[in-house]
This record gives sequence, C-alpha cells and structure tokens, in this order.
Amino acid sequence: NEQNSSNFIHNIIDKDIENQTYGGRVYTRFPPEPNGYLHIGHAKSICLNFTTAQKYNGKCNLRFDDTNPVKEDTEYVESIEADVRWLGFEWDKLLFASDYFDKMYECAVNLIKKGKAFVCDLSADEIRQHRGTLTEPGKESPYRNRSVEENLTLFENMRNGRYGDGEKVLRAKIDMSSPNINMRDPVIYRIAHAEHHNTGDKWCIYPMYDYAHPIEDAIEGITHSICTLEFEDHRPLYDWVLRELEWEAPPQQIEFARLNLTNTVMSKRYLKALVDNGDVDGWDDPRMPTIAGLRRRGYTPEAIRDFCERIGVSKANSLVDIALLEHCIREDLKSKVETRMVVKDPLKVVITNYPEGITEEVEIENSKEDESRGTRKVTFSRELYVERDDFMEVPEKKYFRLFPGNEVRFKGAYFITCQEVVKDAEGNVVELQCTYDPETRSGSGFEGRKVKGTIHWVDANAAVKIKVRDYNYLMIDDEKGETIINPESMKEYEAFAEPSMAAVKPGERLQFFRHGYYIADEKLSADAEKVFNQIVDLKSSWKK
Ligand code: ATP
Ligand code: MG
Ligand code: MG
Repeated sequence: NEQNSSNFIHNIIDKDIENQTYGGRVYTRFPPEPNGYLHIGHAKSICLNFTTAQKYNGKCNLRFDDTNPVKEDTEYVESIEADVRWLGFEWDKLLFASDYFDKMYECAVNLIKKGKAFVCDLSADEIRQHRGTLTEPGKESPYRNRSVEENLTLFENMRNGRYGDGEKVLRAKIDMSSPNINMRDPVIYRIAHAEHHNTGDKWCIYPMYDYAHPIEDAIEGITHSICTLEFEDHRPLYDWVLRELEWEAPPQQIEFARLNLTNTVMSKRYLKALVDNGDVDGWDDPRMPTIAGLRRRGYTPEAIRDFCERIGVSKANSLVDIALLEHCIREDLKSKVETRMVVKDPLKVVITNYPEGITEEVEIENSKEDESRGTRKVTFSRELYVERDDFMEVPEKKYFRLFPGNEVRFKGAYFITCQEVVKDAEGNVVELQCTYDPETRSGSGFEGRKVKGTIHWVDANAAVKIKVRDYNYLMIDDEKGETIINPESMKEYEAFAEPSMAAVKPGERLQFFRHGYYIADEKLSADAEKVFNQIVDLKSSWKK
C-alpha cells in the first residue's frame, strides 16, 4: 500500500513530529512551473508529496511556481491541474507564486533595510566574471557598498520601470568568498518588461527562484519542501533567505533523486521542442513521456502510482529501466480488460471444405484471467483472415503455425490444415487454401489428436476495419551512442477486428489476443475507422 511505505523523508518527518518542530503538522506542496506539460518524472514528485501528506494526515498544495513571465502559459496551468487530478490526488489549496509578488517585494525592501541586499549595475556577463570558480573566490561588485537609502530608491525605480531589461539587478549581500558559489551575492530580482499570465503588466521586476521559493513555502506554512537533488547546493541560500527574513519555524528543504528512465528524455524544454518542431503530434502524443501522452497511450493512474511506489525515494541518482513501467501497466490491465481477436497484417484463408454462404457462431472466453467475464460469440465462415506472419512457406525450426501440410488450432473454432498456397504474378503469397476438421470444434471435447499452435483469425465477411498503431521508444541510441529521435517510433496497420469491436468506445482498453494491450484513441476514435494505440506488448522483458 502506497501510504504505508516509508523512506528517508518520512524518517525526517517522524523526528520532526517527535520534536514537535512544526507542532506535529505536515504540509507539503507540488510546485510546477507552468512552462510545459507534466511528465513521468513529475509524477514521482506528485506521488511523493501527496502520499506523504496523506500518510501523516497532513495537507498538500498545488502551487504554480510562475515567477518567470516569459515561458508561462494558462494552457499549461490547466493541463497540470487536470494531470494531478487524473493521477488521483486532490490538493488542499491551488495557489500561484505570482500572487505573492507584493509580499516578495516587501521582503526585498526589508533585506535592503537590513543591509542584506543591494542594487547592482553590473551586466550579466560581468556578474558571471566576478563570481569566481570552485577554487577561486569571487570579486565584490563595485556597487556592493551603496547606502541603504540609495538602494531603496534604485530598487523602487527598478519597480517603476525606469530601467531596461538587464540594466540593474537586486542582489543578496552574502559572501563573495563562500565556497558555495550560490552564496556569492546571488541575484534575487531582475528586470523583465514582459507580460505575465497572471499579473499582466503590473510588474517589470521578477524574483529569482532561489529567493522566491523559500518565501512561497513560508507564506503557505509548508513544513517539508521536497525537491530534487540539483537544489542541494541551493539549500544554504534557502535557509539564508528565511533566516534573514526572521521567519519562525521556517520550512526545511529536503532533496531526493530525480527519476531518470531509459529511452526517455524528461526535460520540458526538450519535450517542448519536439512539439514545436512537429516531431510528435502534440504534448499528448502517445509516444511522449508526459502524463497526457501516457494517458492517451492507455496508461492508468493506478499503474503510474504503482510504478512511483516501486522505484522508491532515495538520495542517489540512478537510471530506472522503462521495462519496470511497462511491467506495472501489464500487471494493472491483465485482470481488468477483455480480450479480442485482431489481425494486424491480414492474409486471406479460404476453408475449401466449408460450405459457401454459411456463417456459424463460436464462443470464446472474454478473459483468461477472469472467468466471470463470460464469453462472446464470434462468427466463423469459409473466408477468414489470419496474421501474415502466422504463415511460413518454408518453416523454421520450432515454427508451429501455418505452413503447407501443417495443422493448427484456430482460437475457439476448429483445427485447420494448410493445403495450398496461392501466389500473385510476382510470387507474393495472397491466399492460403485450407481445410477444417468438423470433429475438432472447440468445446466438443475432441481428444483425437493434438496440435502445437493456436492462432487468431477474423471472419472476412464480418470483420471491422480498424487502424492499429504500434509504438517503439521515441528516443533511442544510435551506433555512436548518441540519443536520437527514433525514425521508426510508430507503425500503423490497416487491421481487421472481430465484429464485436464495432461497439468499442473511445478510451476503452482491450487485450488483442497474442498482440498486447490497446486503447481506442480518445481523439481519433470518432472517425469512421477507429484508431487503437498500443499500450504495451504482452511479453515482459522485466526480470525481478
Ligand atoms: P524540467 O527540468 O523538466 O523542466 P523542472 O524541475 O524544471 O523540470 P518544475 O515544474 O520546476 O520542472 O518541477 C516541479 C517539481 O517536479 C519540482 O519539485 C521538481 O523537482 C520535480 N521534478 C521535475 N522533474 C523530476 C524528475 N525527473 N523526477 C522527480 N521529480 C521531478
Ligand atoms: Mg523547476
Ligand atoms: Mg525546468
């Protein structure tokens, strides 16, 4: 159970509760920047923050960290809310960091008054040059010793739009010789004459993440501010901001290792480029590692939560095999969905000893895993389709499917023997002439002989045409070991399905017998021909 498991963060919280650090309260937040759609990495953070709050009867906010006006958009805000809900979580409060801009400004004025912040006229390049390196201390800015009065005036002028972008910044006055470069008078406010999705053009100065984030947490009464490992070096600055602003019982930042997955790029910037370049069909393309993409692909919230639970939470970066995610969706679907027969790459079969103009119905179980799902009737007649690769003219060793002279079981119907191969002028196989043995009808109790292969089929006269999209990883490594976009990440088939599939609704999931799990695409399935996305194949490469 996801709420009962423990990790190093829960150990810290247990101690805080024991010591009454926050009066026994536990309050977390998930703080996305609305500059793209959420991905499976964010799901790890969402699950961690929300289930941690649940475990301690605490609360968790959804807070949009929207302090950067340029890249943010309400489309992203809406998608993020939908994705968090879809994963199965409900926030205590829905908040925007930009709603705290007044308070943040006030805090900056306080820092200036305490002599802890100054307005600096150095350019971004000059600031970088002054910053020093890991082995060399930084150089102090010539503007560092401006008087409090001058700083207050200049900061107000910054706010009032008197300067252009980049002309001035507000910097914290900490320590240019600190071994931690983040503490060398970091910039805490910058000028950006840009329209903000929430505050419009009210502001032309915007706070930097390292300054804004601790204030956001403190305003909301967050107790444990969980973030990824790359912020570990920023923690002293997080603590500095709250200490200088004299916050009582300040929140504490705790870092964990971000999720990295094989064959998966998880940078919003990169994913946005894929969308903008048209490499994929939008943020919800079924090949995308976004929550929206996984949803359209047919993943369930249960499978994603199970995955996040299994990967655990640690302090050490690692790479998780995507096969584990695939294992989780197979586990979730195997007893939840029914099975149907679909022929992706059809080859015609004519049963020469079966009467013309006759159709019979055979009964096939809906689920191997769950008998209570009963059976359905499937029509069988003289002309059928089978999968092209269920036939080999010259069989390989251990090939037990159709080849001249061989007998196989047609799932739920009869034993069928391949007799003749019909070819076109170019020598391509276009039809198999077969015979059936009426005595072998499925369910008749026939025990006369056994066959090794069972294959699926559809009745040619009753079949429903569908499109089937099989997927491969979007990102692969080329021969040189460089990650590239897989040129063969999708393969579309004009397939034939058994008649019952005419009634499948968008969003419905099925197992295609011998193929894998599929979902009727929610966007495209209103079309005359339904489109099915492959969720995952049947075989598991995952080894426990
Ligand atoms: P990206 O690098 O994809 O832009 P980000 O960290 O900048 O991601 P945010 O919107 O700031 O994106 O992320 C919100 C929260 O999700 C942060 O607390 C961040 O640490 C967490 N997060 C982002 N990516 C991952 C990941 N791969 N694994 C775990 N948590 C993540
Ligand atoms: Mg971020
Ligand atoms: Mg980012």
